[in-house]
Amino acid sequence: MTATNPAEKIDSRIAWAAHVLKTPTIGRVWEPLATQARDQQWSHEEYLLAVLERQLADREAAGALMRTRTAHFPAIKTLEDFDTTTLPSLRKDVLAYLATGAFAAKADNVILLGPPGVGKTHLAIGLGIKACQAGHSVIFDTAANWVTRLADAHAINQLDLEIKKIRRYRVVIIDEIGYLPFDADAANLFFQLVASRYETGSIILTSNLPFARWGDTFSDDIIAAAMIDRLVHHAEVLTLDGDSYRTRQRQELLAKQNTEGSIFNRR
Ligand code: ADP
Ligand code: MG
Repeated sequence: MTATNPAEKIDSRIAWAAHVLKTPTIGRVWEPLATQARDQQWSHEEYLLAVLERQLADREAAGALMRTRTAHFPAIKTLEDFDTTTLPSLRKDVLAYLATGAFAAKADNVILLGPPGVGKTHLAIGLGIKACQAGHSVIFDTAANWVTRLADAHAINQLDLEIKKIRRYRVVIIDEIGYLPFDADAANLFFQLVASRYETGSIILTSNLPFARWGDTFSDDIIAAAMIDRLVHHAEVLTLDGDSYRTRQRQELLAKQNTEGSIFNRR
């Protein structure tokens, strides 16, 4: 057996400690940062902080990624990709506030209303991703799927358990209220979901219908009113009233073709 060099021994002991502590980033960065610390004459405290901060940053990023994966977003749509110039009435300050994810910490709701194609789902997902990045658990589904999920649980006497499970998420996204009408049972289940989150967890909800027409979709004005009361008590309500983004893009493309000549005429 050859005698081990003491520096090598320290290396392997740090690697082992980082492994046992489940801090792989420390295992990776302690050495290059030590070199940098010597070159730049950092204090011991500065070096320790630099190592810990790298580990912390990696852990936060991994957590955000994991939460984004388990949120079941139908697509990844970010706020950064959202063009706010198409919606002049959208309050940019409110959007910037919501992007901090602070609404989720306070169990506040976000209601996005507007006609089809204006970007409600895009914004709901974008805000959901921001909440994931701020450390909150998020779950996305359409209103119709939420109702199916609750009805299935109800059918086997497990509604309370199901609602309890959903309560583990800090933010529940309910997309597309109003596209499909609910019967009285569905409306009642849906009301229970909304009520279960009142002041304890956030809801991000999108609808193509103004509140005044929710009575139609829930086939009951009283249930609709009770639901709206709870939803808006602590909420930011954003009404998006622009043109459909898809229609707009199509029109822009057509206009471009008209000025440049049809793409089919060109060779
Ligand atoms: P809605 O849910 O209001 O019907 P979506 O969010 O599904 O609309 O938007 C329709 C499509 O247009 C999506 O692909 C979305 O990413 C895109 N889109 C809508 N508004 C914008 C916008 N302001 N900036 C970028 N993309 C947008
Ligand atoms: Mg939508």
